[in-house]
Amino acid sequence: MESIVLFGPAGAGKGTQAQRIMDSTGLPQVSTGDMLRAAVSAGTPTGVEAKKYMDAGQLVPDDVIIALIKDRIQEADAVNGVMFDGFPRTIPQAEALANITEVSHVIAIEVPDERIVERICGRFTCSECGAVYHDKFNPTTVEGMCDTCGSEEFKRRADDNADTVMSRLSAYHEQTSPLAEWYQSIGIFHIINGDREIDLITEDILSALK
Ligand code: AMP
Repeated sequence: MESIVLFGPAGAGKGTQAQRIMDSTGLPQVSTGDMLRAAVSAGTPTGVEAKKYMDAGQLVPDDVIIALIKDRIQEADAVNGVMFDGFPRTIPQAEALANITEVSHVIAIEVPDERIVERICGRFTCSECGAVYHDKFNPTTVEGMCDTCGSEEFKRRADDNADTVMSRLSAYHEQTSPLAEWYQSIGIFHIINGDREIDLITEDILSALK
């Protein structure tokens, strides 16, 4: 079993591209952010512990994340590998991952810091199917209606605000960026320019995965 890692700061477009890669490769998306948000909504002990870090734009402790991933990877749909989105984010997480499953490609989506804030602050998702949109850069075709499933219910993330974005960016530069070198040294790191049209980015990712 071989897995893919989607790597990049918040707002780089990992979620948008994950949906497209999933359609093309059949690998299920494993987003630690989505798993944590589900735990917060359900009020589980993990959710209660994670919420204070998430609200502050800080990373949730490694042991919490690694336990989540160990459980998730046991599920039946993960048997042929998965696509990790937002994991690993620290060296200890990457080391734990190396002991759990083989990673064949790390797709690093790069977007300059100054573009991140505007990208994050306008984003929203369909409550029904999870399709990702942006007020300015990727609006729905018909206002108020999801292009994919027709739902009229949308949600915005509590941590998608200008204050938290700055903390999330610092966490990325301090704790997550060092991983790039780690993956580069094993030769599976593909840098993709994420500051372009969505379809062009998808094309580059799919050719890197071939
Ligand atoms: P994301 O949806 O990937 O932007 O994650 C939202 C928030 O969840 C982050 O700001 C962190 O607080 C937390 N989080 C998600 N994934 C991880 C991870 N792999 N390690 C630590 N914290 C995480």
